Amino acid sequence: MKRWICALAVLCALALGCCAVADGSATVSVRGIGETVTVTLTMEDGRIASVEAVSDNAEADERGVESLKIVADAMVAKNSVNVDAVSGATGTSNAVIAAATQAWLEIQAEAAAGEGWMQPAPAGDTLYQVALLQSLVQGYYDGIVTVGELKRHGDTGIGTFEGVNGEMIVLDGTVYQAVADGSIAIPSEEETIPFSNVTFFDMDETLALSGVANMAALQEAMNGVVNRLGANCFYMVKIEGVFDSIKVRSEYKQEKPYRPLDVALAEDQTEFDYEDIRGTIVGLYCPDYMGDLNSVGWHFHFINEDRTRGGHVLQVSVGEAEAAFDMTDGFEMTLSRNTVFQSMELAKNVDEAIHRAETATTGIN
Ligand SMILES: [Zn+2]
Repeated sequence: MKRWICALAVLCALALGCCAVADGSATVSVRGIGETVTVTLTMEDGRIASVEAVSDNAEADERGVESLKIVADAMVAKNSVNVDAVSGATGTSNAVIAAATQAWLEIQAEAAAGEGWMQPAPAGDTLYQVALLQSLVQGYYDGIVTVGELKRHGDTGIGTFEGVNGEMIVLDGTVYQAVADGSIAIPSEEETIPFSNVTFFDMDETLALSGVANMAALQEAMNGVVNRLGANCFYMVKIEGVFDSIKVRSEYKQEKPYRPLDVALAEDQTEFDYEDIRGTIVGLYCPDYMGDLNSVGWHFHFINEDRTRGGHVLQVSVGEAEAAFDMTDGFEMTLSRNTVFQSMELAKNVDEAIHRAETATTGIN
């Protein structure tokens, strides 16, 4: 897929006449019918200077061997990879044309990447965010996207539901809802979401965790990887293993008029302590500059292995676990057009309220 995105970008750029045809050489092999054809194409002074085509099955078919040279020579003569197949050897001819086309595109793509005007992003490296933590914390709990829509943007993540009706854990493409009694529900596709972050998880790095005493130590261990790979990207993480102890919270669904999140949680937060429990923490790291759109640093939600218990992580002690990191360099945000949302003062500093909402424990189990 990535290769074709490059190819299309190059073709578009060339069609727009923005860049000269690049020089260079590339070798590409293509599987034909009963053979593999390898083509080395060389561009010089913006023209096809030479095309060498060989087949790994040259002895088998005399006409095929002949056609390798005929097609290759035609490309040089025509200064194009779009040449006709040789009759009686269309299979071999088409393999040469396919390999030469690919080689030509690779030369152009490489030159283009060197120019810095095209940096193809691998699919799936985008963090999708629904609204802002700042709007949630100020009490905007109306759903903005549905569960079904959210799943089109990622298979892993965290968030909450309309009315802050519990904590969201998205894992392996399933959206779980840790409700007020600490149990897990599976929301319908039509359920709506006021705040969430998801991505399609592709692992870049792992870290073994053993005997990590508390939340601060866990964050420090995780920061080691983030600081090494680059602290200005996003990281979605999955920490799977055994947790010696973990304290999670959820909350009761709020009714309108909505109160600010820290106020609502002070009354309606529920907390649960588990010991020696197997499961997965799904976490998000946001860089320091994200303070106006989300919380910076780490935000963890937990779901147990049986997918029956879970919530927002307040305290944790890790026994043995493995953390998988997905370094993410793209960001997409969706907002509400609702007039209430539009009239909110979203640049207001709510750091204190966010800190309380993320970390406060009521002490009531
Ligand atoms: Zn949370």
